[in-house]
Amino acid sequence: EEKHSLSFVEQFVKEDLANGKNGGRIQTRFPPEPNGYLHIGHAKAICMDFGVAEEFNGVCNLRFDDTNPSKENTEYVENILNDIKWLGFQWGHIYYASDYFQKLWDFAIWMIKQGNAYVDEQTAEQIAEQKGTPTTPGVASPYRDRPVEENLRLFQQMNTPEAAEGSMVLRAKLDMANPNMHFRDPIMYRIIQIPHHRTGTKWHCYPMYDFAHGQSDYFEGVTHSICTLEFVPHRPLYDKFIDFLKEYDGTAAKGLNDFRPRQIEFNRLNLTYTVMSKRKLHTLVDEHLVNGWDDPRMPTLCGMRRRGYSPESVKNFIKSIGYTKFDALNDMALLEAAVREDLNKRATRVSAVLDPVKLVITNYPEGQSEEMEAVNNPEDEQAGTHTITFTRNLWIERGDFMEDAPKKFFRMTPGKEVRLKNAYIVMCTGCKKDADGNIIEIEATYDPDSKSGMPGANRKVKGTLHWVSADHCVKAEVREYDRLFSVENPSADERDFHELLNPNSLHVHDNCYVEDFAAKMKPGQYLQFQRIGYFMADPDGTEAAPVYNKTVGLKDTWAK
Ligand code: ATP
Ligand code: MG
Ligand code: MG
Repeated sequence: EEKHSLSFVEQFVKEDLANGKNGGRIQTRFPPEPNGYLHIGHAKAICMDFGVAEEFNGVCNLRFDDTNPSKENTEYVENILNDIKWLGFQWGHIYYASDYFQKLWDFAIWMIKQGNAYVDEQTAEQIAEQKGTPTTPGVASPYRDRPVEENLRLFQQMNTPEAAEGSMVLRAKLDMANPNMHFRDPIMYRIIQIPHHRTGTKWHCYPMYDFAHGQSDYFEGVTHSICTLEFVPHRPLYDKFIDFLKEYDGTAAKGLNDFRPRQIEFNRLNLTYTVMSKRKLHTLVDEHLVNGWDDPRMPTLCGMRRRGYSPESVKNFIKSIGYTKFDALNDMALLEAAVREDLNKRATRVSAVLDPVKLVITNYPEGQSEEMEAVNNPEDEQAGTHTITFTRNLWIERGDFMEDAPKKFFRMTPGKEVRLKNAYIVMCTGCKKDADGNIIEIEATYDPDSKSGMPGANRKVKGTLHWVSADHCVKAEVREYDRLFSVENPSADERDFHELLNPNSLHVHDNCYVEDFAAKMKPGQYLQFQRIGYFMADPDGTEAAPVYNKTVGLKDTWAK
């Protein structure tokens, strides 16, 4: 196979290697905050972080960016690990930013002693007001020049159970006039009186993202810190804190090494008809607008897995959209096309009837049955075959019959022949109706010489229908999904996002029949219901009462 063309990110890494940076060592990290489940946007970052390590014989570690105990917990940690494994990636180490709390604290103390940090007792609103605008300088805090001793005392006080949240913050003393707003005395620490999922009540004061992320990269030896575009304006601050850190640990003065992690940014993945913001995803779950994080309508990896998306299809989609420096809205249809393409190679073909009507083969004796061979996957010979049973009483789709059909209707209509998949050619002879005129039964005769493989099977018949034997099937529930939101870009819409939800995103078919073989399929096994689409068994079902999720429809449903 041809080597894929390198993205701009990989080009940067390649150049660094060619220039002998970091002694040829490549180390990346994927840094999730354990405050929710991973979504397909995270998968884009994961593919890059792990992909670079694979491409250049490096290592990719996991680092849980757990610096805000108010929203984090170990349930999220476990599920993040599970989802990364499902995607097929193997990390080197698992690190936690919380393991560096003491190191970061000591570094912050040094910053104070150097006169580079101060405790501000103003409110968040006052601090925000004094920030100024990119074209006008900010106003210095009245606490900016307080003595080092006082800063040290107050910083210790910030880290006590008595400290009130919001009463004090530690700020870096940088430059209140810098055109980069992130340099206007950014907050380094804030008080949070909520137990941490790993450190319990040891700390009462926690580092901000900007005072944790780059330092953590540096502590671990990350060579390339790849992230999304919103961090571009943070990059100078990322570098600045690492300058301080190298001064603090002595490597700068001694010229011991020139190691420094390099931040590189790419565009986020955004998908049509859904949202990626964790806050909004939390709302969907908390308000029961969906059935949990793994609801098959969710853009989460666990939701996609439950719905029946394969990890390969997710990765192929990400490869197809690529990495750029421009934010875009990616078309959900592209993702679905990638899913179809991959499942076509993977899915076991079975028969299921979602909207059943009885078909009686009037010249096939009652009580007789015969087993037919069904190919599991025409795209994969290795997949083998399974048997299906043909009998007098069958179920077919109500929509596959028309009493008065137009000329182009190649399904079942009186006086015309159709082929029953893997079985016989049958001639429709009529139908029975109830008092209201509803069709309750369709009748046909079969041609005994037309069984698949027999010479009589070769004659030209336009339509092929799927069916299940009424005596060899299981009643099933099928959940069909539509887009979660009814507008293309819900994140850009001014209206409240509740109003943008598609009220018909879930459609339950509770009277379906699947062949016996399909009822035995477990969650995780990719299925194609012939002529309908791709499906996967849902954990809500059992062998006796299976439930399936529709993954995605076939491209041209009614093609022969
Ligand atoms: P929030 O919604 O709270 O901002 P987040 O989506 O940034 O959270 P993190 O756990 O901080 O979640 O993300 C971990 C990594 O995944 C980060 O490096 C982030 O840049 C990346 N990431 C998150 N969302 C996307 C996305 N939509 N596309 C590409 N990468 C993403
Ligand atoms: Mg976050
Ligand atoms: Mg983030």
